[in-house]
Amino acid sequence: MKVTEAEIVISAVSQQQYPKNHLPEIALAGRSNVGKSSFINKLIQRKNLARTSSKPGKTQTLNFYKINDLFYFVDVPGYGYAKVSKKEREKWGVMMEEYFATRDVLKACVLITDIRHEPTEDDVLMYDYLKHYELPVIVIATKLDKIPKGKRVKHLNQTTRALNIDSGDVVIPFSAETGEGKDDAWHIIRQYINH
Ligand code: GDP
Repeated sequence: MKVTEAEIVISAVSQQQYPKNHLPEIALAGRSNVGKSSFINKLIQRKNLARTSSKPGKTQTLNFYKINDLFYFVDVPGYGYAKVSKKEREKWGVMMEEYFATRDVLKACVLITDIRHEPTEDDVLMYDYLKHYELPVIVIATKLDKIPKGKRVKHLNQTTRALNIDSGDVVIPFSAETGEGKDDAWHIIRQYINH
C-alpha cells in the first residue's frame, strides 16, 4: 500500500476519546522494545511518526494513527516491562479491556514478536487474550535480519509452536532494517480492512 497520509489523531486513555468516524481499525501489540514503532514506521514509510522508545513502558495511551483516510493503526502500550508499578499495570489492564472488549470496528490485531527468541510468557498471554475476543491475529516475527537465513524456518516454527497459533492466523517474518515482509504484512492487513 502506498501511504500518502499518516497522522496521529488522538492519544486516548478512555473510550470517549476514540475516533467516531467508523473507519476500520488494526491494533498493534507487543512487548516493550520488541520493535513495534519500527514496524509501524517501516510500513508507513515515515522515519519517526511512531516514536521509537528509549524508555519502554512509558506510553500508557492508545495512539490512533489515521492512514490514507482508510483505516487506523491503533498502537497499544507495550507490555512486559518489569519496572511498571502495580497501579500502572492495573490501569493498563482496564484500558486494554475497554478497547478490546467493546470496539466493533476493530478488525484484527498485529502482535509483534522477536524472531530470535522463543515467545515470552507475556507474548503467549497476549495472544490468548486476543483469541479470547475472537480477534484475528497477524503475528509479525521481527528482527529477521538478525538471524542467519538457514535458521529462519526453525525460528518461525518455534514462534508458531510456542504461541499455539490458530489455523486461521499467520506468522510473517519481518525486518524493519531490510523491509523484508513488508509487502506480506500489507497484503494481509488490507484483507482485514476490507472485510
Ligand atoms: P518498541 O518499543 O516496541 O516500539 O521498539 P522500537 O521500535 O523502539 O525498537 C527497539 C529497538 O530495536 C530499536 O533499537 C530498534 O532500532 C531495534 N529494531 C526494531 N526493529 C528492528 C529490526 O527489524 N531489525 C533490527 N536489527 N533492529 C530492530
